[in-house]
Amino acid sequence: MAKGALIVVSAPSGSGKSTILHRLLEQRENLRFSISATTRAPREGEQHGVDYYFVTQDRFLEMIEEDAFLEHAEFVGNHYGTPRAEVEQRLEDGYDVYLDIDVQGALQVREKRPETLLIFILPPSMEELEHRLISRGKDDMETIRRRLAEAERECSVKDRFDYVVVNDEVDRAAAEISGIIDGYKQRMK
Ligand code: 5GP
Repeated sequence: MAKGALIVVSAPSGSGKSTILHRLLEQRENLRFSISATTRAPREGEQHGVDYYFVTQDRFLEMIEEDAFLEHAEFVGNHYGTPRAEVEQRLEDGYDVYLDIDVQGALQVREKRPETLLIFILPPSMEELEHRLISRGKDDMETIRRRLAEAERECSVKDRFDYVVVNDEVDRAAAEISGIIDGYKQRMK
């Protein structure tokens, strides 16, 4: 069986990327989400082994030592990393693997695997992003402020991605990303 495609999607938090991901997972049978490890506390409704592997700081550092990560980064005071073995196994099994990671992580993956497809999702505007972060009510104001500052920084490197998709409307943006993945897979053959 042919190996799957590695797809990295980065976007400022609040850009609606998790809704897009769910749409893509429904529509693309061959797509698998890579579950990251993080030292961040679970938000309400988040499950260990589904949304993230929630680990202690000590365990995370141990995993770095074990070279267990394809990439890892610190984001707004917490560590996040992509477990390498899982990703590689899925690709071997022929699945396309979707990494939802920050821009630092995306650029590390590009270094290690230059053939990776890198997609950046842009919110329609910074005002809309602020509105979404406040209305989802999951973070306090200080965290929202830090996430907005981070979003500005993240958007400034979007030109290093292969594609930039504006999330003006979820179905449209998901369809655009699906088309990009199809084109990429055609070229991979
Ligand atoms: P959140 O705390 O909102 O779930 O995620 C914060 C940021 O960390 C998001 O930009 C998300 O894409 C990123 N992130 C999640 N998992 C990983 C990972 O494994 N590696 C890196 N570098 N970033 C990640």
